[in-house]
Amino acid sequence: MKLTTNIGTTEENDIRFQEMQNGQPISDQNLDHLRAWIAETYPDAGSRLPSERDLAKTLELSRPELRKSLAALEIEGRIIRQVGRGTFTAEPPSMTQTAASLAALAERTAPHDAMIARLSLEPELARMAALHASPFQVKTMQDLGARIRASRSWADYEELDFELHDLIAKSAGNVLLYELHKIMNAVRQVVVWRKLTSDIKRPSPDYHSFDEHDAIITAIASRDCSAAKDNMRAHLQATLDTLTT
Ligand SMILES: [Zn+2]
Repeated sequence: MKLTTNIGTTEENDIRFQEMQNGQPISDQNLDHLRAWIAETYPDAGSRLPSERDLAKTLELSRPELRKSLAALEIEGRIIRQVGRGTFTAEPPSMTQTAASLAALAERTAPHDAMIARLSLEPELARMAALHASPFQVKTMQDLGARIRASRSWADYEELDFELHDLIAKSAGNVLLYELHKIMNAVRQVVVWRKLTSDIKRPSPDYHSFDEHDAIITAIASRDCSAAKDNMRAHLQATLDTLTT
Protein backbone atom coordinates (compact mmCIF):
# COMPACT_ATOMS: atom_id res chain seq x y z
CA MET A 1 0.00 0.00 0.00
CA LYS A 2 1.43 3.35 -1.02
CA LEU A 3 0.80 6.16 1.40
CA THR A 4 1.75 9.74 0.84
CA THR A 5 3.96 11.31 3.44
CA ASN A 6 2.91 14.67 4.68
CA ILE A 7 4.53 15.92 7.83
CA GLY A 8 2.58 19.18 7.74
CA THR A 9 3.52 22.65 8.85
CA THR A 10 3.50 23.65 12.49
CA GLU A 11 0.35 25.62 11.88
CA GLU A 12 -1.35 22.59 10.34
CA ASN A 13 -0.28 20.48 13.28
CA ASP A 14 -1.70 23.02 15.69
CA ILE A 15 -5.00 22.84 13.89
CA ARG A 16 -4.93 19.04 14.03
CA PHE A 17 -4.18 19.14 17.72
CA GLN A 18 -7.11 21.49 18.29
CA GLU A 19 -9.36 19.23 16.26
CA MET A 20 -8.30 16.24 18.31
CA GLN A 21 -8.81 18.15 21.52
CA ASN A 22 -12.33 18.99 20.44
CA GLY A 23 -12.99 15.28 20.17
CA GLN A 24 -13.44 15.42 16.40
CA PRO A 25 -11.71 12.75 14.35
CA ILE A 26 -8.99 14.43 12.32
CA SER A 27 -9.26 14.25 8.57
CA ASP A 28 -6.00 13.11 7.12
CA GLN A 29 -5.13 10.76 4.28
CA ASN A 30 -2.44 8.90 6.24
CA LEU A 31 -4.69 8.54 9.22
CA ASP A 32 -7.55 7.25 7.08
CA HIS A 33 -5.25 4.65 5.51
CA LEU A 34 -3.83 3.59 8.86
CA ARG A 35 -7.33 3.29 10.32
CA ALA A 36 -8.51 1.21 7.36
CA TRP A 37 -5.36 -0.95 7.40
CA ILE A 38 -5.73 -1.72 11.11
CA ALA A 39 -9.44 -2.50 10.70
CA GLU A 40 -8.68 -4.92 7.86
CA THR A 41 -5.56 -6.55 9.30
CA TYR A 42 -6.60 -6.68 12.95
CA PRO A 43 -10.40 -6.83 13.02
CA ASP A 44 -10.48 -8.00 16.64
CA ALA A 45 -10.03 -5.79 19.67
CA GLY A 46 -7.01 -6.65 21.81
CA SER A 47 -4.67 -7.50 18.89
CA ARG A 48 -1.08 -6.39 19.28
CA LEU A 49 0.17 -4.12 16.50
CA PRO A 50 3.68 -4.52 15.02
CA SER A 51 6.45 -2.27 16.35
CA GLU A 52 6.52 1.33 15.19
CA ARG A 53 9.52 0.61 12.98
CA ASP A 54 7.83 -2.36 11.23
CA LEU A 55 4.54 -0.51 10.94
CA ALA A 56 6.21 2.51 9.34
CA LYS A 57 7.98 0.20 6.87
CA THR A 58 4.84 -1.76 6.00
CA LEU A 59 2.79 1.38 5.47
CA GLU A 60 5.65 3.29 3.76
CA LEU A 61 5.17 6.05 6.24
CA SER A 62 7.67 8.28 8.01
CA ARG A 63 8.02 7.64 11.75
CA PRO A 64 6.81 11.15 12.76
CA GLU A 65 3.76 10.81 10.53
CA LEU A 66 3.00 7.35 11.88
CA ARG A 67 3.34 8.58 15.47
CA LYS A 68 0.99 11.45 14.74
CA SER A 69 -1.63 9.12 13.29
CA LEU A 70 -1.23 6.66 16.16
CA ALA A 71 -1.72 9.50 18.63
CA ALA A 72 -4.93 10.46 16.83
CA LEU A 73 -6.19 6.87 16.92
CA GLU A 74 -5.41 6.69 20.62
CA ILE A 75 -7.49 9.81 21.26
CA GLU A 76 -10.30 8.33 19.19
CA GLY A 77 -10.15 5.28 21.44
CA ARG A 78 -9.30 2.88 18.62
CA ILE A 79 -5.94 1.81 20.01
CA ILE A 80 -4.44 1.54 23.46
CA ARG A 81 -0.73 2.10 24.02
CA GLN A 82 0.86 0.39 26.99
CA VAL A 83 4.37 1.36 27.95
CA GLY A 84 6.71 -1.63 27.65
CA ARG A 85 4.02 -3.90 26.20
CA GLY A 86 3.13 -2.35 22.88
CA THR A 87 0.09 -1.03 21.06
CA PHE A 88 -3.22 -2.88 21.01
CA THR A 89 -6.43 -2.47 19.06
CA ALA A 90 -9.47 -1.38 21.05
CA GLU A 91 -13.19 -1.54 20.49
CA PRO A 92 -14.16 1.94 19.24
CA PRO A 93 -16.99 3.47 21.24
CA SER A 94 -19.83 3.41 18.72
CA MET A 95 -23.10 5.31 18.57
CA THR A 96 -24.88 1.98 18.94
CA GLN A 97 -23.13 1.35 22.24
CA THR A 98 -23.98 4.84 23.47
CA ALA A 99 -27.61 4.38 22.45
CA ALA A 100 -27.68 0.94 24.05
CA SER A 101 -26.29 2.20 27.35
CA LEU A 102 -28.81 5.08 27.37
CA ALA A 103 -31.61 2.62 26.66
CA ALA A 104 -30.40 0.41 29.52
CA LEU A 105 -30.30 3.45 31.80
CA ALA A 106 -33.82 4.42 30.72
CA GLU A 107 -35.02 0.91 31.58
CA ARG A 108 -33.71 1.31 35.13
CA THR A 109 -35.14 4.81 35.60
CA ALA A 110 -38.67 5.28 36.94
CA PRO A 111 -40.54 8.29 35.46
CA HIS A 112 -40.77 9.84 38.92
CA ASP A 113 -37.00 9.54 39.35
CA ALA A 114 -36.39 11.09 35.94
CA MET A 115 -38.46 14.12 36.97
CA ILE A 116 -36.74 14.38 40.36
CA ALA A 117 -33.37 14.37 38.58
CA ARG A 118 -34.55 17.15 36.29
CA LEU A 119 -35.85 19.14 39.26
CA SER A 120 -32.45 18.94 40.91
CA LEU A 121 -30.50 20.15 37.87
CA GLU A 122 -32.59 22.21 35.45
CA PRO A 123 -33.68 25.11 37.69
CA GLU A 124 -29.99 25.80 38.37
CA LEU A 125 -29.20 25.57 34.64
CA ALA A 126 -31.99 28.08 33.94
CA ARG A 127 -30.51 30.41 36.55
CA MET A 128 -27.08 30.14 34.90
CA ALA A 129 -28.64 30.62 31.46
CA ALA A 130 -30.08 33.95 32.64
CA LEU A 131 -26.50 34.97 33.39
CA HIS A 132 -24.71 33.52 30.38
CA ALA A 133 -27.06 33.05 27.42
CA SER A 134 -25.95 35.00 24.35
CA PRO A 135 -28.43 37.32 22.60
CA PHE A 136 -28.58 34.79 19.76
CA GLN A 137 -29.39 31.95 22.17
CA VAL A 138 -32.13 34.07 23.78
CA LYS A 139 -33.59 34.83 20.37
CA THR A 140 -33.53 31.11 19.49
CA MET A 141 -35.31 30.30 22.76
CA GLN A 142 -38.02 32.84 21.92
CA ASP A 143 -38.45 31.33 18.47
CA LEU A 144 -38.65 27.86 19.98
CA GLY A 145 -41.29 29.06 22.47
CA ALA A 146 -43.45 30.26 19.57
CA ARG A 147 -42.90 27.06 17.60
CA ILE A 148 -43.79 24.92 20.63
CA ARG A 149 -47.14 26.73 20.87
CA ALA A 150 -47.77 25.98 17.19
CA SER A 151 -47.02 22.25 17.56
CA ARG A 152 -49.31 20.24 15.32
CA SER A 153 -48.72 16.92 17.02
CA TRP A 154 -47.39 15.53 20.28
CA ALA A 155 -44.34 14.30 18.40
CA ASP A 156 -43.57 17.88 17.26
CA TYR A 157 -44.18 19.17 20.76
CA GLU A 158 -41.83 16.60 22.30
CA GLU A 159 -39.06 17.34 19.85
CA LEU A 160 -39.27 21.12 20.27
CA ASP A 161 -39.59 20.84 24.05
CA PHE A 162 -36.45 18.67 24.00
CA GLU A 163 -34.67 21.33 21.92
CA LEU A 164 -35.67 24.16 24.23
CA HIS A 165 -34.52 22.40 27.39
CA ASP A 166 -31.30 21.41 25.61
CA LEU A 167 -30.64 25.00 24.55
CA ILE A 168 -31.27 26.37 28.04
CA ALA A 169 -28.80 23.82 29.45
CA LYS A 170 -26.24 24.68 26.79
CA SER A 171 -26.68 28.42 27.41
CA ALA A 172 -25.69 27.90 31.04
CA GLY A 173 -22.11 27.70 29.73
CA ASN A 174 -20.82 24.80 31.82
CA VAL A 175 -19.63 21.87 29.70
CA LEU A 176 -19.86 19.20 32.40
CA LEU A 177 -23.35 20.22 33.55
CA TYR A 178 -24.46 20.35 29.92
CA GLU A 179 -23.18 16.80 29.30
CA LEU A 180 -24.99 15.58 32.42
CA HIS A 181 -28.12 17.30 31.20
CA LYS A 182 -27.81 15.65 27.79
CA ILE A 183 -27.80 12.19 29.38
CA MET A 184 -30.79 13.18 31.51
CA ASN A 185 -32.69 14.70 28.60
CA ALA A 186 -32.10 11.59 26.47
CA VAL A 187 -33.26 9.26 29.24
CA ARG A 188 -36.31 11.33 30.14
CA GLN A 189 -37.40 11.36 26.51
CA VAL A 190 -37.84 7.61 26.69
CA VAL A 191 -39.01 7.32 30.28
CA VAL A 192 -41.40 10.19 30.81
CA TRP A 193 -42.99 10.53 27.43
CA ARG A 194 -43.69 6.84 27.26
CA LYS A 195 -45.93 7.37 30.28
CA LEU A 196 -47.52 10.64 29.24
CA THR A 197 -48.69 9.65 25.77
CA SER A 198 -52.37 10.45 25.52
CA ASP A 199 -55.17 9.92 23.04
CA ILE A 200 -55.34 13.61 22.08
CA LYS A 201 -53.54 14.31 18.80
CA ARG A 202 -51.80 17.49 19.86
CA PRO A 203 -51.45 19.70 22.95
CA SER A 204 -54.58 21.81 23.48
CA PRO A 205 -54.09 25.60 23.07
CA ASP A 206 -54.30 26.05 26.85
CA TYR A 207 -51.75 23.31 27.61
CA HIS A 208 -50.01 24.41 30.82
CA SER A 209 -46.47 24.05 29.46
CA PHE A 210 -46.86 26.84 26.88
CA ASP A 211 -47.15 29.62 29.46
CA GLU A 212 -44.56 27.95 31.66
CA HIS A 213 -42.01 27.89 28.84
CA ASP A 214 -42.71 31.53 28.00
CA ALA A 215 -42.24 32.51 31.64
CA ILE A 216 -38.83 30.78 31.72
CA ILE A 217 -37.73 32.36 28.44
CA THR A 218 -38.91 35.83 29.50
CA ALA A 219 -36.96 35.56 32.75
CA ILE A 220 -33.81 34.47 30.91
CA ALA A 221 -34.23 37.28 28.35
CA SER A 222 -34.54 39.87 31.12
CA ARG A 223 -31.55 38.34 32.97
CA ASP A 224 -33.69 37.62 36.02
CA CYS A 225 -31.79 34.70 37.58
CA SER A 226 -34.14 33.89 40.42
CA ALA A 227 -37.26 34.09 38.23
CA ALA A 228 -35.63 31.82 35.66
CA LYS A 229 -34.86 29.30 38.37
CA ASP A 230 -38.32 29.51 39.99
CA ASN A 231 -40.16 29.32 36.68
CA MET A 232 -38.19 26.27 35.58
CA ARG A 233 -38.92 24.59 38.90
CA ALA A 234 -42.64 25.39 38.55
CA HIS A 235 -42.67 23.98 35.00
CA LEU A 236 -41.05 20.70 36.03
CA GLN A 237 -43.19 20.44 39.15
CA ALA A 238 -46.33 20.77 37.01
CA THR A 239 -45.13 17.88 34.81
CA LEU A 240 -44.31 15.85 37.92
CA ASP A 241 -47.82 16.53 39.24
CA THR A 242 -49.28 15.26 35.94
CA LEU A 243 -47.29 12.05 36.41
CA THR A 244 -48.40 11.40 39.96
CA THR A 245 -52.10 12.16 39.52
ZN1 LIG B 1 -40.70 21.85 28.88
